[in-house]
Amino acid sequence: MTDETWGQVCNQLQKAVGQNNYTTWIAPLEPVGLSDGIASFHAPTKFMRDWVSRNFAEPILRELRHAGVIVERIEILVLKHRPANAAPAPTHASAPPARKIVSNLDAPLPSAPLDGRFTFDSFVVGKPNELAHAAAKRVAEGGPVSFNPLFLYGGVGLGKTHLMHAIAHDLRQQRPDLRVLYLSAEQFMYRFVQALRDKQIMDFKEMFRSIDVLMVDDVQFIAGKESTQEEFFHTFNALVDQGKQIVISADRAPGEIKDLEERIKSRLSCGLVVDLHPTDYELRLGILQTKTENYRTEYPGLQIAPGVLEFLAHRITSNVRILEGALTRLFAYASLIGREITLDLAQECLKDQLRQSERKVTVEEILRKVAEHYNVRLSDLVGPKRMRAIARPRQVAMFLSKSLTTRSLPDIGRRFGGRDHTTIMHGIRKIEELRASDSQLAEDIDMLRRLLES
Ligand code: ADP
Ligand code: MG
Repeated sequence: MTDETWGQVCNQLQKAVGQNNYTTWIAPLEPVGLSDGIASFHAPTKFMRDWVSRNFAEPILRELRHAGVIVERIEILVLKHRPANAAPAPTHASAPPARKIVSNLDAPLPSAPLDGRFTFDSFVVGKPNELAHAAAKRVAEGGPVSFNPLFLYGGVGLGKTHLMHAIAHDLRQQRPDLRVLYLSAEQFMYRFVQALRDKQIMDFKEMFRSIDVLMVDDVQFIAGKESTQEEFFHTFNALVDQGKQIVISADRAPGEIKDLEERIKSRLSCGLVVDLHPTDYELRLGILQTKTENYRTEYPGLQIAPGVLEFLAHRITSNVRILEGALTRLFAYASLIGREITLDLAQECLKDQLRQSERKVTVEEILRKVAEHYNVRLSDLVGPKRMRAIARPRQVAMFLSKSLTTRSLPDIGRRFGGRDHTTIMHGIRKIEELRASDSQLAEDIDMLRRLLES
């Protein structure tokens, strides 16, 4: 952190805490360094240290972050054994000597903080994420680079950040010799802008080029930000040329990120591009079971009635973050009121989440999936043909339309090529009847339902 940055932070703090507080508590602080996400300050007395830590740590942290400093916490040290004749601790007003964090190979990397819970152990593997998991594991071994970059993409809350942190945790443990840097694209931009402003762009470049494994999360953030993209591109190339591993995540495939330069898209696509698919029922259930096991220590008396986790896995389909949130809420609620977690309790406690996650399936989607599944033409499903190979899938689609949408029978009829509502009713009855005896049909319907609801 440079004096200039600190000066800027001080200006903001003055506004945030008021002039008096600022003069008394903040101005006497002397910034002495920033490493490993810890910003250190000297305070003239122990009392001052305690007071500032208790009352101003938060605003200081907040303003540091606003100024683009990557910092996890602050630390205040008391200057001990100050010789009697020494000058008083310099205040900000008297401009302390320039101090900057020089990036050299021994300096700890300014990695963004890692979430200790995001490990491979706590990552549940299922069909939708098994490739991403396997690729991440490979990178985490720290062996020779076999694909570069590893590009992970997928919707929000599907585990991209979790996997990247897991790679960093493993590498730090098993290959402490490697310089591993994890940060978000946003943080990359802040550091770049800060380096430009502080005229430390050479330090910036040198630092980024000294990394063995670089992980940049949510790279879509730099789309449209021209000079940041440019710098990212050069950093990227320099590292790839040196055979250093790069891991990137984004919310969509490289080619689909708008306002990203073509040459960057193509560089990003030339390694291994892996997509994290939306969760399926089995994965959601697996995650719920794992998390429940973990909660057992926190809530020793925890009782869960059979079927509750299955119910949640079935009904909360949006993403893992929301699924986790629901489970946490449910446990907290049950332990608060001291009751066993039953289906009723879950429904009561998660009313809002359940309503929100009711996905709106459309008749068109149903027709499309059913046509695909039975390998018939969509136009035939809504057309007049009456042979069994088409009539049966059509009835299945009618049945699903009634049970998965809120459409009325006449409305459904219109979407099935203008059929009468009695025809729709007849189709639905037929399937209800057959389903009880035809296990293949029952299975087909279950599968289609799951497909449509996930
Ligand atoms: P993303 O970065 O893709 O938006 P995160 O990695 O932040 O998603 O994941 C959101 C939350 O869901 C995190 O708490 C994470 O631990 C959890 N999560 C996601 N996928 C899994 C998984 N397969 N197993 C266990 N937890 C998961
Ligand atoms: Mg993320």
